[in-house]
Amino acid sequence: MDRFDIFVLPFTIGLAFVVIYYIVQLFRWRSQIPQEERTKLNAIFKSPVKFFWYGIDVIKESLLHINLFRTNLLLGFMHMSLAFGWFMLIICGNLESKVYTNSHLNPPYFPIFLKYFIPDMTKYPLHKVFAFVMDFFLLMVLTGIALALTKRFISKKFSIAKKPKYTAIDRVGLYSLWLIFPFRFLAESLNAGIYKSGGFLTQNVGNLLNDAGFAESSAYTAWWGYSIALGIFLCCVPFTRYMHILSEPFFIFLKHAKVDASKFQAAYNDIQVKSCSKCGVCLNACPLVPSNVEGNPQPIYLLNALRHGTLTPEMADTCLNCRRCEEKCPVGITIEPLRMALKKGASMEPNLEYTTLAEYPKAKVGYFAGCMGKLTPATTQSLEKIAKAANESFVQLDKESGICCGRPQKLAGQDAVAQRLIERNKELLAQSKVELLVTSCPICLKTFKDDYQLNIPVLHHTQYIKKLLDARKIEVKNDAKRTAYHDSCELARGCGITEEPRYILKSSSSFVEMERQHRGQCCGNSLAHTTLTSQAKASIAAITVSHLPEQTQYLITSCPACNKAFKGSSKVEVQDIAVFTANNLTPVTHVEESLHGVAATASAK
Ligand code: SF4
Ligand code: SF4
Ligand code: SF4
Repeated sequence: MDRFDIFVLPFTIGLAFVVIYYIVQLFRWRSQIPQEERTKLNAIFKSPVKFFWYGIDVIKESLLHINLFRTNLLLGFMHMSLAFGWFMLIICGNLESKVYTNSHLNPPYFPIFLKYFIPDMTKYPLHKVFAFVMDFFLLMVLTGIALALTKRFISKKFSIAKKPKYTAIDRVGLYSLWLIFPFRFLAESLNAGIYKSGGFLTQNVGNLLNDAGFAESSAYTAWWGYSIALGIFLCCVPFTRYMHILSEPFFIFLKHAKVDASKFQAAYNDIQVKSCSKCGVCLNACPLVPSNVEGNPQPIYLLNALRHGTLTPEMADTCLNCRRCEEKCPVGITIEPLRMALKKGASMEPNLEYTTLAEYPKAKVGYFAGCMGKLTPATTQSLEKIAKAANESFVQLDKESGICCGRPQKLAGQDAVAQRLIERNKELLAQSKVELLVTSCPICLKTFKDDYQLNIPVLHHTQYIKKLLDARKIEVKNDAKRTAYHDSCELARGCGITEEPRYILKSSSSFVEMERQHRGQCCGNSLAHTTLTSQAKASIAAITVSHLPEQTQYLITSCPACNKAFKGSSKVEVQDIAVFTANNLTPVTHVEESLHGVAATASAK
C-alpha cells in the first residue's frame, strides 16, 4: 500500500499553517490574561467534571449550533450539517484508517485521502458499516453546502433581513469551502465506481460515472482538486470568519470561567472578533436595519472591520447601544466593550462648579431625575404625587440643580471625566443621607448600580411603585384601559427589570402583551448613536410602535428617552408608568407599613 502521493501536499501545508497559527494564537491570548483570571480558566482544565460539562457545551454550540437552531431553524440546520457532519467525517475517517491499517501512526493526510491509498476496501472488516456511515455524514455536509449556496441567493428564506458583506479573502475561503466536499464526493464516487467499494451514495453515483467512462481518467484529478480546495481553505481560516471554528471553543471556556474581561479587554475583544461566525442573526435583531439607516453600524460589520483593520471612526458612534444584537447572538458576543474600546482616549475637564448640592434636602427616599428625567417633568411630578399619597419621606435630589450620572461621558470614552462626576455625585449623596435612591432613567439606574458601589439600594421607579403597591401604601383603580408596555433597552436587557412594570399595569389596566419578537425594540432615541438624524430616529420609533397590539389605548413606557421618542411617533397616547399610576391613584383604605417601610424593606435586600 502506498502511503504518500504528491497531491497531498496542498492539504498538508494548509493544515500545518493553521495548526501553527492556532497554537501561537492560543499562547498569545493566554499570555495577555492576568494571572488571577488565568487561574479561573485553569481551574476548568484541572477539574475533569467541569471540563466534561463545559466540553459538552462546546459540542452543543460549536458543532450542533443549538442556540442558532433556537433562533432560526434553517440557519441552525445549515451550520450544524456543515460543522457536525465534517467533524464526524474526521472522527470516523480516523477510526476507519486505524481499522484498515492496524496502525495508530498514520500521517494526518492519510485518513482524509484513505480511499485513494486503500482503493479497494471490500476485503477489510466492517467495510460496509464504514461505507454507510461515511456516506451518511458526507451527505449531511453536502446538504449543508447546498443550503449555504441557496442562502447566498435567496437569503430571505433563512429569515435573514440583510446579507452579510464579504471581503475578497472571505470569498476565497467561502468558495474553497464550497468546493471541498463536491471534490471529495467526486473522488470517492469515481473510486467506488472502479473498485465497487462505496456506500449508498458514492457507489450509485460511481456506477453512473464508471458506465459513462469517466472513472479511470478523472479520479486522480478529483483527488488533486479535493486537496487543493482543502489547502486553500485552511490557509484562509485565520483571516476569515472561519476562525470562529477554532476560537469559539476557547471563548466558551472563558465565559464558563467567569473571567473579568475588563482586565484584559483587548485580548478578550480579539477573541470575540474571531469567534463571530457571521451568521447574520444580529442583522435581524438590529433596529437600524429595517429603518435603512446609512452606514454599517451592525455588530457584524464592526467585527468584520476590526478583523480586517478597516475600521472608520464613525463605526464606533453609529450604534444605538440597545443590545438587541447581543441578546440574540448565538455565540454570546458582547458588542458594547468593543465599541467602548474604540472610543477610549478622548478627554476633557468637567466643569463641576454648578454642583451646589450641598443643600440636598434630607429625606429617606432620594429621587434622581437625571437630565432625561428633567426633560419629562410629568414623570417627576407624578412620582412626587405617588410618594405623597404613600406618605413617604421623599425628595427629588436634583430638583434645583444637578449633575449628570456620568454615563454619556463613559459612552464617549471619557472615563476620567465620568469618574470625576461619579465621585462628586457620591459625595453629594453621602451628604443627603438618603437610605434609598430611586431613578427614572434606566441608564442612570444601571450607572448607579454598576459604577458607584453605593451602600444604599438603588431602585428604578417601576420597582419603587411596585413596592408601594405591595405594601398597600398606595392603591390604584382598574378601569380596564387597554395598555401595552414597551421594554426599554437599558431597563429590560441592561437591568433585567421586566416583571415590575407588568405587575403595575395588570393591577391598574387591561394589559395586553406585545408579541415576543417585538418586545424591547429600540425607540431610536439613543445617546450612543451620534450621527442619527431625527428622521431616522422617528423611523425607528415608528417601526416599534407599528407592532403594538390592536386597540391599544395607552403605550406605557418606563424610560424618559423612550417616552419622548414615542410621543412624536405614536397615534395612541403615550404615558410614563408613573404618570399612568398617578392618574389611577385611589384613596388608601388601610396602611400596613410605617412611613419608612419601603426604604427599610429595600435596604434589607
Ligand atoms: S455577532 Fe453574533 S449574531 Fe452577529 S454575526 Fe457574529 S455570531 Fe452572528
Ligand atoms: S446595539 Fe442595537 S443598534 Fe447597536 S448594533 Fe446592536 S442591535 Fe443594532
Ligand atoms: S443617564 Fe442620561 S438621563 Fe441619566 S443622568 Fe445620565 S445623561 Fe442624564
